Amino acid sequence: MDEAIAVEVRDLEVGYGWGGNATRILHGITMDVARGRTVGIVGESGSGKSTLAKALVGLVRPTAGSVKVGGVHVSSARGADRRAMRRKVQMIPQDPYSSLDPRRTIGEALAEAVDPRRAKVTAHRDEIVHWLETVRMPADTIDRYPHECSGGQRQRVAIARGLMIRPEVVIADEITSALDVSVQAEILNLLASLRRELDLTMVFISHNLAVIRHVSDEVVVLYHGDIVEQAPAADLYQRPRHEYTRTLLDSVPGAPGFDIRPRPRKDAS
Ligand code: ADP
Repeated sequence: MDEAIAVEVRDLEVGYGWGGNATRILHGITMDVARGRTVGIVGESGSGKSTLAKALVGLVRPTAGSVKVGGVHVSSARGADRRAMRRKVQMIPQDPYSSLDPRRTIGEALAEAVDPRRAKVTAHRDEIVHWLETVRMPADTIDRYPHECSGGQRQRVAIARGLMIRPEVVIADEITSALDVSVQAEILNLLASLRRELDLTMVFISHNLAVIRHVSDEVVVLYHGDIVEQAPAADLYQRPRHEYTRTLLDSVPGAPGFDIRPRPRKDAS
C-alpha cells in the first residue's frame, strides 16, 4: 500500500439491473487520488459521474474491479470497518435544501456529525463555532434554523458538517448546481481556500469544466462510463488531447468570474 495514495480505483465496473436488463455504466475505471490533492471528474449528464461517486462511498457495489480508501476495500468493509469507512469518506450533498433537518438548529446538525449518539450542542459548542468560522459563517448561526439561512449558507453548513469529522476523502458531487450563479462562485472560492488550508483530499465532480478547473489539481474526463482523458489541470486546459474534452471546453458557458478558455500561447504565431 502506497501511503501517498488516499483513493485507489482499479478496473472499476458498475452496472444497474440484473440479467437481460443489466446495463453497464462504468466500463473499467482506473484512477488514484493522492493525499492532499483534488481530482476533478467532468463529463456530460449521464456519463456516470454520480455512479462513480456512489462507488467511492460504497453506495453501489462494483460488478468488477475495486475501490480502496486508505488501503481498505470500500464495498467489502463490514461491521466496525464499515462504520469507520463511513467516516473516512464524506460526501457533501448536492442539495443544501434537503440535506438539513428543518426542525433542528444548525448547531444540532453539526453536533450530530461529531457525536451521532449523544448530540449535545453545549458539549461541542467551541468545536462547532470553530467550524462555522472555518466556512466563513458567523458564530451565532449555531442557534439558527435552516430556513433562516440562505442557500449558500446552508451549503457552507453542509461543507462544515462533511469536514468536521476529518474524513480522509471528501466527495463533492455537483455541490454548486442547486445554487444561484452568484453564490456558486462564493462556494467554489471557499472550497478552493479550504483545500489548501486543511490539506484536503477531494474528488470534485461537475459537468462544468470551468467549475472543475477552479478547484482541481488533476482532471479526469468521463465519457459514457469510460475515462477518455486524465491530466494535470493546467495541461488539460492548455492542451486538451481528446476530441470530447475539446467539445466540453467549447460548450461550457463559463462560471462567473473564471476564464476557462486556454490563453493564447506567447509563442503562437
Ligand atoms: P451523471 O452523474 O454523469 O449524470 P449517472 O451516474 O447519474 O451520471 O448516470 C449514468 C447512467 O446510469 C445514466 O444513463 C442513468 O440513467 C443510469 N442510472 C443512474 N442510476 C441508476 C439506477 N439506480 N438504476 C438504473 N440506471 C441508473
